[in-house]
Amino acid sequence: MAEKSDADTADHSEPLLEQGPRSRTVEIDGHRLRLTHLDKVMYPQTGTTKRDVINFYWQVAPRLIAHAHDRPVTRKRWVNGVGTSEEPGESFFQKNTGRDTPEWVPRVSIEYVRKTNEHPLVNEPAVLVWLGQTATLEIHTPQWRAYRTGRRHRPDRLVLDLDPGEGVGLAGCAEVALQAREALADLGLDAVPVTSGSKGIHIYAPLDGSWTWRKASDSAHELARSLESEHADRVVATMGRAERAGKVFIDWSQNNTNKTTVAPWSLRGRLRPTVAVPRRWEEVEDSQLRQLDHVEALERLSEPDPLQEVIDRLKRD
Ligand code: ATP
Ligand code: MN
Repeated sequence: MAEKSDADTADHSEPLLEQGPRSRTVEIDGHRLRLTHLDKVMYPQTGTTKRDVINFYWQVAPRLIAHAHDRPVTRKRWVNGVGTSEEPGESFFQKNTGRDTPEWVPRVSIEYVRKTNEHPLVNEPAVLVWLGQTATLEIHTPQWRAYRTGRRHRPDRLVLDLDPGEGVGLAGCAEVALQAREALADLGLDAVPVTSGSKGIHIYAPLDGSWTWRKASDSAHELARSLESEHADRVVATMGRAERAGKVFIDWSQNNTNKTTVAPWSLRGRLRPTVAVPRRWEEVEDSQLRQLDHVEALERLSEPDPLQEVIDRLKRD
């Protein structure tokens, strides 16, 4: 499959759109895009506009695409913005491309048990700009990449989704993340924490492609169960909502080939424009750990991507 941003020679260090015109046409890598309603407020609490969203996705494109290219995308869209806590904006998940999808957007057809969906692929920056224009705030992807035919590669990451139950904060989640890191190391896996931009932490362990998704899923399940038995007072590994209060739920189920997790460097459709950001373990060890917003995420672009570093190390060894 075409290697994403190789053809992308554009400068992403500056925003794509200046303040001013409410609509305009841009040309990106030969694709013409009509951008409209750029002053529309997508996040009322912070006044973040559609222009800001497009600029964020433009600047983060090289990083986001490195992790997301060739993964079938499920979009989560907020056509009228995220709203307020009293009046949340409507959102919906959208897997399929449709009439709203320009013909140049790369795509792949994926077979599920009962149906086939044609997903867009974020293989080039213009796709991210189009997603911003169409009010996609969240980009969700599976732990595997697709061949052009739609056949699935083996997973290239294992994921653990740490969800803090009622009464548990990000600090409680961080403690369990550190334990999960050790348990993954015992399996020979190097892991990277990603603050989800919502409540919890996603832990990714890059895989060399030799594990089936079932093996990844079984290993994650086993790991979650063993952490639960070691730390029964603070970890839970089963789905039931009732048992989660005061504990961190380790959701291992997103290793299932048919499931997704929010893509690293995706915005979130929360009240504030937070982002799923790869972090350093030292940050997770720090009691001040908190979720980051789009401005803070962009500030990190001058430093190496912690997730990319672990992927590169795995490839070298
Ligand atoms: P938090 O840190 O608050 O838990 P999260 O992104 O991990 O944020 P979860 O509710 O734990 O949110 O869901 C984990 C992932 O499962 C999501 O990122 C998303 O990719 C996927 N998911 C959850 N609900 C749906 C749904 N209804 N349709 C498709 N995917 C979903
Ligand atoms: Mn979660």
